[in-house]
Amino acid sequence: PFDVLIVGGGPAGAAAAIYAARKGVRTGVVSERFGGQVMDTMAIENFISLKETEGPKLAAALEQHVKQYEVDVMDGQRAEALIPGELAEIRLASGATVKAKAVILATGARWREMNVPGEREYRGRGVAYCPHCDGPLFKGKRVAVIGGGNSGVEAAIDLAGIVAHVTLLEFGSELRADAVLQAKLKSLPNVTIHTDAHTTEVTGADGKVNGLVYTDRKTGESHTVALEGVFVQIGLLPNTDWLKGVVDLSKHGEIEVNARGETSVPGVFAAGDATTVPYKQIIIAMGEGSKAALSAFDHLIRSSVN
Ligand code: FAD
Repeated sequence: PFDVLIVGGGPAGAAAAIYAARKGVRTGVVSERFGGQVMDTMAIENFISLKETEGPKLAAALEQHVKQYEVDVMDGQRAEALIPGELAEIRLASGATVKAKAVILATGARWREMNVPGEREYRGRGVAYCPHCDGPLFKGKRVAVIGGGNSGVEAAIDLAGIVAHVTLLEFGSELRADAVLQAKLKSLPNVTIHTDAHTTEVTGADGKVNGLVYTDRKTGESHTVALEGVFVQIGLLPNTDWLKGVVDLSKHGEIEVNARGETSVPGVFAAGDATTVPYKQIIIAMGEGSKAALSAFDHLIRSSVN
């Protein structure tokens, strides 16, 4: 068996692998796709100490760094079940079972998409999901935020300080964000809010977004908004369906962790976007992954299984 088995090969999993391997313990990584969300990212400008990099470049660097150590990377493998115990078991889709004294869950998350024409086509070319990552790229431009929940309204307030104008579109007849956020949003001079707005298309030309189309659900009329960016804020889906009923999850499906990265199950730790830790960012996922590995090592030196 492994001493530490990490499920997930994104920034959190890679950091956990390096920290575990550096303790000289037997370390394995099971990942569906090594690199994780970073593989889908173009410009990264907030990974501290690198002024600018690209996702695939950072993912390759992660892999090289992990390979400096004796880590058994099982890439292209999907974990389907976790069976806790003195020796925890991870069942893979391939039918194989991997056992470990400590497990670190780092399966990340994915943004919920609108599933409208133009969204995929212009992803990274005007369609964005992360205001902390991409907000500054739209300095002085016009953007829309889709979604009037807390994350949408927070994003709109954040972006209003950077861009020329923000249009917020909410499908329902009211915003769902906390009252204090709604009040703040409504006080801003460069924000327009449309409720009952069903976004139906992202339009573009020359490989860049130039607008969006929405239907006013009350009148049935279709409207066009000219803009350069669309931030989709309709939810982040943690990749934790396979853990339901095994470890405690929040109502959003995030793995509940404490400050040490411990889950509700002894010997099972978690890190990164799949967890309740706020702010889903590369540098945060790496810090959390490192922390979870140190906690797993602490667990190993206290456990009776050899
Ligand atoms: P992930 O990167 O999601 O990795 C999860 C890993 O788990 C993957 O290897 C996946 O294949 C694997 N996995 C999932 N389920 C299973 C399973 N059942 N079995 C086995 N393996 C599994 N952050 C920034 O800091 N700066 C940016 O500029 C930035 N831009 C972004 C742009 C885009 C388009 C996107 C999508 C995200 C961006 N982010 C950015 C966010 C950042 O990518 C994430 O916060 C970070 O990747 C989270 O790391 P993670 O390791 O927790 O999860």
